Amino acid sequence: MNYSSLYAALGLDGEDLTSGDLVVRSPVDGAEMARVRRHDPADLDAAVNRAETAFLEWRSAPAPVRGQLIRLFGEELRSHKEPLGRLVTVECGKILQESLGEVQEMIDICEFAVGLSRQLYGLTIASERPGHRMMETWHPLGPIGVISAFNFPVAVWAWNFAVAVVCGDSVVWKPSELTPVSALACKALFKRALCRFAEDCGGPAPDALLEVTIGGRDIGELLIDDRRLKLISATGSCAMGRAVAPRIAARFGRSLLELGGNNAMIVAPSADLELAVKAILFAAVGATGQRCTTLRRLIVHEDIYAALTARLKAAYDGIRIGDPLESGVLAGPLINASAFQSMEAALGKAASEGGAVFGGGRAMKDRYPNAYYVKPALVEMPKQTGAMKEETFAPILYIMKYREMDQAIALNNDVPQGLSSSIFTNDVREAEIFMSAEGSDCGIANVNIGPSGAEIGGAFGGEKETGGGRESGSDAWKNYMRRATNTINYSADLPLAQGVEFDITY
Ligand code: NAD
Repeated sequence: MNYSSLYAALGLDGEDLTSGDLVVRSPVDGAEMARVRRHDPADLDAAVNRAETAFLEWRSAPAPVRGQLIRLFGEELRSHKEPLGRLVTVECGKILQESLGEVQEMIDICEFAVGLSRQLYGLTIASERPGHRMMETWHPLGPIGVISAFNFPVAVWAWNFAVAVVCGDSVVWKPSELTPVSALACKALFKRALCRFAEDCGGPAPDALLEVTIGGRDIGELLIDDRRLKLISATGSCAMGRAVAPRIAARFGRSLLELGGNNAMIVAPSADLELAVKAILFAAVGATGQRCTTLRRLIVHEDIYAALTARLKAAYDGIRIGDPLESGVLAGPLINASAFQSMEAALGKAASEGGAVFGGGRAMKDRYPNAYYVKPALVEMPKQTGAMKEETFAPILYIMKYREMDQAIALNNDVPQGLSSSIFTNDVREAEIFMSAEGSDCGIANVNIGPSGAEIGGAFGGEKETGGGRESGSDAWKNYMRRATNTINYSADLPLAQGVEFDITY
């Protein structure tokens, strides 16, 4: 594949993509698509310095003016949606429709952030003292660090970046070492927005509002330990979260963790099976099982189990696997050989625990000897055992039966992760119980839609080993600001709170 026209369409400099020491391979065919420069500790230190200087200037710009920069960035994303979507597909392997959806999500969060730039409200609070007023004020937090995963190479960063910039922060971004080119493309598009901002909005904004640092775990570790970065928003596996959380806590930094999921769907007897099958396919097979919200466990009422599994097997047989840029293809490749080996190992483990495997195994090996296409797998399990409690980042859907709803909810919750969940039912009691305090323990609990494909308006994230962070919409902006409580005395006295007397005569 010739990448140069794609890179040129995104304003990427060819020199930056050919002279580095980090080889980037496309999962589509395993071919080399770029060589980018790995950053070293001195580069990171300089980047954080620049971001800190940028923050000191940007924090004083009025928030609605900050919003104008993100409006312009959103416009650049809109006019480059197609090439950026293509690049995401080429670099991480998801089908073009999903990559275009990912870029649309970036545009959506920019629009949300522009509106937010006029709504960073604090409270006014009744004071117990006469002639006093209390209020909360929200201030920019500081330069922040963003670490992102390969499977959403641009959208998850944009959730953080768009909101952080309107909140008055600067961002140092370490993308996944598997997808650095998409990050460099975002930086190039943001530069265009900066140029337009300087022309249209009465003066320049600091270039270093976005710094991109390229590298693996080594650069990530330096980032999380850097006291100048007031918040670290880290997206990735639970193993990554387990390593980074205590280090950030040790320096009293703030962390926002978006970690692995192990998402389930309950299908009740009253469910519309036609809808359920469509939702299951999108959630379990979409992005080739490489979404944090991928459906991994299906909990089906015993009365409809045989009918639903038969329909699913027929549907799985019809899934078109292949080049993710070709229209009609529903499943592209896994990211690399190691992902394929994890899938094989998980299927072996499930079989040894009594699972009956349908599908699985490598596909299109002759056409793509250096890429890892797989047949999505369904595994009927006698009960929820070891293999099912781990997140294997591949298209494996475990299926099991239930008899009573409380048993199904217990199965939904009986895994270490707590990201997303859903129920298909037309019984209003079941739906409400599933969303109640006694129901799903996940950050996302859906009814009659699958667990994946979230919109930006809600707060996104999960409980337990998913890390507890919330980003994107709702009030997630509060992560990126610091709160001051102000008490103002406009009286001629100095009464103390709680009626305390402390008279001084002098
Ligand atoms: P990963 O954990 O291998 O890497 C994620 C990022 O963390 C990369 O940039 C990596 O370089 C960095 N990193 C790894 N170890 C680190 C360390 N000790 N210190 C600092 N940085 C470190 O994850 P991945 O394979 O790129 O992505 C898949 C995982 O991400 C899955 O578990 C998926 O569920 C999760 N994910 C979660 C969400 C969410 O919002 N909850 C979204 C996307 C992906």
